Amino acid sequence: ASTIHIVGGGLAGSEAAWQIAEAGHRAVIHEMRPVRRTEAHQTEGLAELVCSNSFRSDDPNGNAVGLLHQEMRTLGSLIMRAGDAHQVPAGGALAVDRDGFSEAVTAALAAHPNVEIRREAIDELPPESWGSTIVATGPLTAPGLAEAIRGLTGAESLAFFDAIAPIVHRDSIDMDKAWFQSRYDKAGPGGTGADYINCPLDREQYDAFIAALIAGEKTSFKEWEASTPYFDGCLPIEVMAERGPETLRHGPMKPVGLTNPHNPTVKACAIVQLRQDNALGTLYNMVGFQTKLRHAEQVRIFRTIPGLENAEFARLGGLHRNTYLDSPRLLDATLRLKARPALRFAGQITGCEGYVESAAVGLMAGRFAVAEAEGRPLAPLPQTTALGALIAHITGGHVEAEDEGAPRSFQPMNVNFGLFPPLERMPRNETGRRLRGPEKAALKKRALTDRARADLAAWLGGDAPRAAAE
Ligand code: FAD
Repeated sequence: ASTIHIVGGGLAGSEAAWQIAEAGHRAVIHEMRPVRRTEAHQTEGLAELVCSNSFRSDDPNGNAVGLLHQEMRTLGSLIMRAGDAHQVPAGGALAVDRDGFSEAVTAALAAHPNVEIRREAIDELPPESWGSTIVATGPLTAPGLAEAIRGLTGAESLAFFDAIAPIVHRDSIDMDKAWFQSRYDKAGPGGTGADYINCPLDREQYDAFIAALIAGEKTSFKEWEASTPYFDGCLPIEVMAERGPETLRHGPMKPVGLTNPHNPTVKACAIVQLRQDNALGTLYNMVGFQTKLRHAEQVRIFRTIPGLENAEFARLGGLHRNTYLDSPRLLDATLRLKARPALRFAGQITGCEGYVESAAVGLMAGRFAVAEAEGRPLAPLPQTTALGALIAHITGGHVEAEDEGAPRSFQPMNVNFGLFPPLERMPRNETGRRLRGPEKAALKKRALTDRARADLAAWLGGDAPRAAAE
């Protein structure tokens, strides 16, 4: 049996350790709590849920995270076993008693003969003498280790913040100045061509707005302020404004493809777009307006935008700490750091988002580490499964898209059907007629989840082709 070290006993680290121990190898978990805390964790339990107590939908036919639950159960997940055992009523969602859940995970690992739990903070790169090591230190990775990882990967490859944009109450927007329209009247899925609320600025208003953004008081981030790395695509607006006065009107405030019905002959200098944020249509978020301006400054400055003079904010923008790697560039197909293959990464630090997803990536990291220790190749997980789609998002999709000449930034993401390869043919119902709307969507999800189950079964059973499993 081999020994595999795991730094961080959160959702991902706990699951990885379980998979390793169950496969007959030794797992050593290095967890810093309670010796050191994070700004969100409250207890010393392993797999503590820091915020909501929900694992989201448990529907394996209509929902990608429900499918992920099912796949994890099939692969003997400890996180799912403990979640199921400590379920609380929550409709179609799987919600858990957070203390009971965390205690169950901690107890199962503590009692496992192949698991050792060391309560210590790791402030440098794990020593080479450890050999195979999984780093699963999460969005709140302790600064010393984050800095060491950054030294290895390069400054641009480790993001420390995730940005959120402000959300405005729809009924506080002045529609005598603003109007509904999608850029070029494009109607996306479920859209009408008039899905966005648009607020126009003339040159004078725009220039004043840019000046206010630059002068506005920002919240400070003591530790990282000097060189906070942001991935393009989630840059705070004031950082964009600092890059040049015209940057925003060529970015999130670009005025193209929109015509102001209140003033059709005058072209706006810049336009702020707001996108529907909830199903009810009562909340709208300011597109691209992630910011680290102080809350009072946001209210003051954003109310200078025509149409938003009396805006009421349901939530103001902000940046929260979220340490994550530019994984598609840095990690290989089995989650190993290309620059140092003894280190594998798992959980939210790889750029997935959510409790279940973090545990799922931990599950696969554990299995990859076991296969490597045993010197046997693991057939690639089909991307048609929820686990495979998630791993592909983390390890590959980004770079492929860039090779095709379409660079895009890597953003943390929940599992969703958009990460699955499209169906080869659209499903039909018994009557064979063409389907539309919700009926079509439901049948499509059913076909995607059926395909996932068949492909996971085939993968587990060896390399049997999918046709044989169907
Ligand atoms: P964690 O569960 O955070 O585990 C990492 C572990 O590593 C921790 O136990 C930590 O103490 C330890 N550690 C860190 N650094 C070191 C070190 N140097 N040495 C030793 N140990 C170390 N997801 C949801 O699905 N729903 C939510 O409601 C939700 N709310 C969130 C709220 C906040 C404030 C944050 C930050 C994240 C939230 N997430 C939520 C996102 C995410 O899914 C969770 O953070 C999840 O716990 C990530 O799992 P993980 O295993 O990657 O990290």
